Amino acid sequence: MDYVLETKSLLKSYRHVEALSGVDMHVPKDSIYGLVGRNGAGKTTLMRVVAGMQKENGGTYLLFGVDKNSREIKKERKRVGAMIESPAIFHDLSAEDNLKMQYRILGLPSFDTIPEILSTVGLENTGNKKAGSFSFGMKQRLGIAMAIAGNPDLLILDEPINGLDPEAIVEMRELILRLNREMNMTIIVSSHILDELAKVATYYGFIDSGRMVKEVSAVDMEKECRKALRIKVESIEKSAIALTSLGNDYSVIDDNTLDIFGDIGIKEVLDVLSGAGIKDIEKRNENLEGYFINTMGGCV
Ligand code: ATP
Repeated sequence: MDYVLETKSLLKSYRHVEALSGVDMHVPKDSIYGLVGRNGAGKTTLMRVVAGMQKENGGTYLLFGVDKNSREIKKERKRVGAMIESPAIFHDLSAEDNLKMQYRILGLPSFDTIPEILSTVGLENTGNKKAGSFSFGMKQRLGIAMAIAGNPDLLILDEPINGLDPEAIVEMRELILRLNREMNMTIIVSSHILDELAKVATYYGFIDSGRMVKEVSAVDMEKECRKALRIKVESIEKSAIALTSLGNDYSVIDDNTLDIFGDIGIKEVLDVLSGAGIKDIEKRNENLEGYFINTMGGCV
């Protein structure tokens, strides 16, 4: 497979904390790679290191097949754009002037493509309005505009939908898909909102305690996802007792809802849970959140 980014036993320690403990990551060309992990798992550190914002303490990584210690890496770094933590924007400047600043920093020869970038991120009508007065969603989109100013082949986005309202989340999702499909960018994106990540990601990397626990394509994950019956009951306690006789794995979703995993018939469930007051049964496949919990244990 053609990898845009590959990390090999990547190590990064802060004074008392080992944030990356030998990460092996493989980001396929043209993918939207969802980086999933709990708070403190090492996602931001990993993104900062491969974006060249921090130096690793061990291991290495390859960008577009070129080792970071090679002389040619400088050229490949120009093919990477990133928005990590908060968007790197100047609050006293308009969107256009922010981009002019970024173009100068990148040494781009002309400002001709600025209108196109503003329109790509949906900020074409912001005129002289200063970025400081933008909504949070607009600031995030301006941050992405800054990150894509050099027309990168790899775009790294750390929690781009964190804190956005539902409408802004949809806009961000559409933007990510457009950048990937129409502008051919491979994108690494981290998010805590797994349902949302599942709407865009074509690959996943599950990271825990500074280690890559699993990498899987969305297609394979779907195949691996366990079948489940989601059941609404009056009494979870009575259900739990009855379910011990069934032997299937199950997980309690809330006070009245549980998922029973495995190949199990509705009739069998009705028989076993007859005393628990079944209100509804729905067939479903485990989602990304369930898969995450199974792969990593505990909650995201
Ligand atoms: P979150 O989702 O909360 O941002 P994360 O997966 O991005 O988490 P990191 O921010 O990479 O995780 O942090 C990994 C570990 O390194 C954590 O234990 C964190 O406390 C620690 N860490 C991160 N940055 C620093 C720093 N500058 N100095 C010391 N420790 C740090």
